Amino acid sequence: MARDSVIAEQTPQARAAASPPRIGVLGLQGDVREHFAALEHCGAEPVNVRRASELDAVDALVLPGGESTAISKLLEVFELLEPLRARLREGMPAFGSCAGMILLASEVLDTRPDAQHLFGIDMTVRRNAFGRQVDSFETDLRFTGLDDGPVRAVFIRAPWVERAGDGVEVLATVPDGPFAGRIVAVRQGTVLATSFHPEVTGDLRVHRMFVDMVRDL
Ligand code: GLN
Repeated sequence: MARDSVIAEQTPQARAAASPPRIGVLGLQGDVREHFAALEHCGAEPVNVRRASELDAVDALVLPGGESTAISKLLEVFELLEPLRARLREGMPAFGSCAGMILLASEVLDTRPDAQHLFGIDMTVRRNAFGRQVDSFETDLRFTGLDDGPVRAVFIRAPWVERAGDGVEVLATVPDGPFAGRIVAVRQGTVLATSFHPEVTGDLRVHRMFVDMVRDL
């Protein structure tokens, strides 16, 4: 789908009217601005979250792509780790892309021994899973719930989901090639995670899906 037509569809007045959901973007490190822009286009009110008081004030949270071990360390420095775990336990919706997916996991392979994670989704995630040869690549994916054409998926030193728990819905897998079948998008309740970066392609359907999840609560 053409980029312009996707963006044009995202901003009908009606969607932005009334009270847009306040969706935090964890602003410690990573591609925070890209998520801000995508959320704005989807009619949400993005809010930078760097402290616990800011987390208290949002309806949901996006965890951006970046470097999961750096974000993990900063979560501790900014005293956000336990408040964030608590909000997730209480059912706050969240969406993590790439490093954000790693942070939302209940178990992480190939990370630093001191890295922390958030237990937002019952899954085991392997960090940097696609290996050095294919640090970055792009492919078109079928994404459950987005039936109007494939999603262009941009992978940058991406993780995959090695184990998805019983309550976890697999939304997308790698369609072909040496990594065919690898799980790259999942959802458990109102927590969503992608190995790839929907925030960088201009196709806003994954963000719109998340904003709709938050609106429907
Ligand atoms: N490899 C990164 C990590 O371990 C994730 C990469 C990304 O977010 N693009 O956190």
